[in-house]
Amino acid sequence: ERMMDIRGKNCNPMTMKVTYYKKPVFVHQGYMQWLWDVDGRRYLDLFAGVATVSVGHCHPKVTAAAIQQLKTLWHTTNIYVYPALHEYCEKLASYFPDPLKVVYLTNSGSEANDLAMLMARLHTGNFDIITFRGSYHGGSPQTMGLTSNSAYKYPIANGLGCTNTMCPDVFRGLWGGSHCRDSPVQTIRGCGCAQGYCMANDQYIGQLKETFATSVPSRIAAFFGEPIQGVGGAVQYPKNYLKEAFKLVRERGGVCIADEVQTGFGRTGSHFWGFQGHDVIPDMVTMAKGIGNGFPMGAVVTTPEIAASFAKGVHFNTFGGNPVACAVASSVLDVIKEDGAQQISLDVGTHLMTELAKLRDKYEIIGDVRGKGLQIGVEMVKDKASRDPLPPDAMNEIFEDVKDMGVLIGKGGLYGQTFRIKPPMCITMKDADFFLAVFNKSIHNYMERR
Ligand code: PMP
Repeated sequence: ERMMDIRGKNCNPMTMKVTYYKKPVFVHQGYMQWLWDVDGRRYLDLFAGVATVSVGHCHPKVTAAAIQQLKTLWHTTNIYVYPALHEYCEKLASYFPDPLKVVYLTNSGSEANDLAMLMARLHTGNFDIITFRGSYHGGSPQTMGLTSNSAYKYPIANGLGCTNTMCPDVFRGLWGGSHCRDSPVQTIRGCGCAQGYCMANDQYIGQLKETFATSVPSRIAAFFGEPIQGVGGAVQYPKNYLKEAFKLVRERGGVCIADEVQTGFGRTGSHFWGFQGHDVIPDMVTMAKGIGNGFPMGAVVTTPEIAASFAKGVHFNTFGGNPVACAVASSVLDVIKEDGAQQISLDVGTHLMTELAKLRDKYEIIGDVRGKGLQIGVEMVKDKASRDPLPPDAMNEIFEDVKDMGVLIGKGGLYGQTFRIKPPMCITMKDADFFLAVFNKSIHNYMERR
């Protein structure tokens, strides 16, 4: 018995859960910014496997590098050294400022964050960890504790989605959410706020200091922050907010960790790493997704000092730093340069943001357009006066309509009210304009129907 018909008809829900679209898209093939389903329908992919396919589906150069390595050496554990590993670690380290020069390779973002958490605790001798409201840091039991968005947690044990013994003591209340009324610091950028932010910058910084003074333990192990929130809905921080948070964390003995799983590898356009847009140098940087253009891989990059504290134990990861993953990731770094992917992020991203802002001004239900480069969020509201999130049914109507017109985008935000646009960094202005026309039409259709 076949459990699933190739054309997506008799899909057995017991064996395969597909929840994103009402009618699943059976993706069959991909090339650069395009995907084809089993019926041969083409889609412009503006979600890139959730910001993962950095330089394009089956990019010919990356594919060739993978094939070459598959013919040479598939696997050996990291008790040996092999050229692909050595070359990649050196190359990746060269993308970081001093003192971030020690590389550990993992298989995913959750694993990278788990490892960073362990290293931070070993290094500082402290236990408590701080993250932002609205953050997403992974799906492993430990990182689920770091993740703030309750949609990704399971209601067990202490409510952190994991057992007490495994769970970090996490305080999640600095910043975030994508809705003015719900943020612990009163407001966030946008949601119809005319000036972008509702308060002056120093007021936000004042609130941050007060939060630390009243709610944060005197000794902490680490602070995890995404330079721009991904799953949270492209949420950005006020100017100098992250810089001040780093200072306050370090005063309490903690290390600062930038989670670059979504923002790294040129996606923000203006910088290769998201943290560079905040005028800070973290003590650790975690990454995954775009690192391998879809090939499973993750990494932690840290300082020799923190690495020395970690060297007291034995670190072993069977697949971390797999030769094929290293060859692929190395080729991704080359291709980002050769194809000008970061510049594309900046140029096409800026164009998209400018044009989406015009749609925001045109439609009552677009509350905010935010992000940087090709990491864009479009927050949908019932109306600009209430700033209430557009309900899921309405979101889904627009979402399905966009898909039916041939474009795949994502959803996120605390209430699932933010459309997310994070395509492979090879899209063109023409693709962007195609999407803008489709998005405009789908919102127009929705407004007509309601
Ligand atoms: N950190 C961030 C910022 C992420 O967006 C994600 C994945 N959405 C993760 C960590 C976890 O990565 P993975 O799914 O590879 O474990």
